[in-house]
Amino acid sequence: MDDNTRTAPGPWPEPVTVDKADPRYPDLVGRGVNARFPAAPAAIGLPATAGQVVRLVQDAVDTGRRLAVRSGGHCFESLVDHPEVDVVIDLSEMKAVGFDPETRAFAVEPGASLGALYRTLFLGWGVTVPAGRCPEIGVGGHVPGGGGGALSRRYGLSVDHLYGVQVVVADGSGRARLVTATREPGDPNRDLWWAHTGGGAGAFGIVTRYLFRSEEAEGRGLLPPAPAAVTKKTARWSWDDLDETRFVALVRAFGRWHERNSAPGDPGAQLDNSLTLPRAGGGEITLETAVDAGRPDAAEQADALIAEVCRAAGTTPEVAADTRPFLAATLVPDEFAGVKGRFKSKAAFLRACWDEDAVARLYRRLTDRSGYQHPAAAFYLLSHGGAINAVGEGETAMAHRDAVLKAYGSVFWWDEREDDVHLGWIRETYHELFADAGGVPDPGRGYGGAFVNYADADFTDPELNRSGVPWHRLYFRGNYARLQEVKGRWDPREVFRHALSVRPPGV
Ligand SMILES: Cc1cc2nc3c(=O)[nH]c(=O)nc-3n(C[C@H](O)[C@H](O)[C@H](O)COP(=O)(O)OP(=O)(O)OC[C@H]3O[C@@H](n4cnc5c(N)ncnc54)[C@H](O)[C@@H]3O)c2cc1C
Repeated sequence: MDDNTRTAPGPWPEPVTVDKADPRYPDLVGRGVNARFPAAPAAIGLPATAGQVVRLVQDAVDTGRRLAVRSGGHCFESLVDHPEVDVVIDLSEMKAVGFDPETRAFAVEPGASLGALYRTLFLGWGVTVPAGRCPEIGVGGHVPGGGGGALSRRYGLSVDHLYGVQVVVADGSGRARLVTATREPGDPNRDLWWAHTGGGAGAFGIVTRYLFRSEEAEGRGLLPPAPAAVTKKTARWSWDDLDETRFVALVRAFGRWHERNSAPGDPGAQLDNSLTLPRAGGGEITLETAVDAGRPDAAEQADALIAEVCRAAGTTPEVAADTRPFLAATLVPDEFAGVKGRFKSKAAFLRACWDEDAVARLYRRLTDRSGYQHPAAAFYLLSHGGAINAVGEGETAMAHRDAVLKAYGSVFWWDEREDDVHLGWIRETYHELFADAGGVPDPGRGYGGAFVNYADADFTDPELNRSGVPWHRLYFRGNYARLQEVKGRWDPREVFRHALSVRPPGV
């Protein structure tokens, strides 16, 4: 349905447009977290209502200017801050979180941060949406990629609780309009809702409102309850305690535990775990598990995981335990809060842990001091699976429903002159980890593909991706053709496009 009439009044009656001469420009232009991508769009549009977004999009289409949209600014790549973008539509002032009685769903505007979402849903209703670990991320760009974090093994991904989206689209004649699309079986716009359950942000239109309500809600509350408190247990190893053999045993024990304890409903799926593997000289190897403090059975699972990994590594470090109330445990600022440096991240879904050879190669890359000396680089293994894998590959656009881990590597630096050396290190390391699949996590060769929220444009570059596996198979697997159909219906002119956006059929 067309929905121009249901937009709430905003603080200003007209969309604010800021050009380069405007004193507000520097604050708005610099909101992206990655300093590798400077930007200088001719204008930044600052809407306060969905109706104002329609007007800004219409204006860009009518004047032939390329647009991009920003919510929280946490994009890894130059999908927003790009030299060809003329107008950035910045949604940071559309940040309301509340309950919409008409749809019986929680209505969340895209400029709300995940931290604001967690806080308002918890304090107002005691509920939550499973979403990312970093509270500064914007809801706007997070949810259409799938969205997931600390509670996902227990409750699934953000999109598994997405009832609907309100989206500004531009049709084949170039007319911008506001559309609501829900998961209701009879909704004629259901395909547009589906595309927003993992098809990636910024590819179909501009989302002006997300509606959250769990599918199995009847009699159970509209969204999952948040835990009252969270217990985190942390074990740390110094690099001095681990030679290659012990390192391989430690990482493989963590991975094998996830292979055995990640089926939907498995008691171990109550745990959210991470294993941080920094470069030698950049910190300690750290295993952290987080559980609902009200679940003693889950705490036992956490102890068993830590004991298993310690046994494999042949060393028994002190284990620190810390219990905090839900918000205190959740609203922990991320490493980029207030810091804007240069970084490159590369990630993959794993259906099983890397084999011994791959982990040994990772050990050598992390410990090698012969050439690369930089300490601010790390790989992480993050738990996946559990309730995430209770959903079928095509039920949502997020196809990655068979992985047990996410692997994530990142390097951070300040000086532009060092770009090549850092980019080279992380690209080579990643390539070595997936050497048996052409350097990418090919779903056809046992891996799980890649996560579109962890945007990595390397996959689109034939110089950097020589595997023969197209970027969209890594991100969308078997769902890509259907996503292309949705794109053809809702954005045939590709008004909304960037390096990782779904293309219309035949393109
Ligand atoms: C430190 C850090 C930690 C992270 N942790 C997690 C995590 O735990 N789990 C996880 O799933 N992801 C995580 N991410 C990835 C994050 O979810 C994505 O980068 C997400 O796209 C960021 O959304 P944003 O609105 O903040 O970013 P933006 O830079 O504003 O936008 C990112 C993309 O979304 C598009 N977009 C933004 N708003 C809209 C909108 N309203 N409508 C349509 N398109 C829009 C943009 O055009 C762009 O393509 C993390 C990222 C960082 C930097």
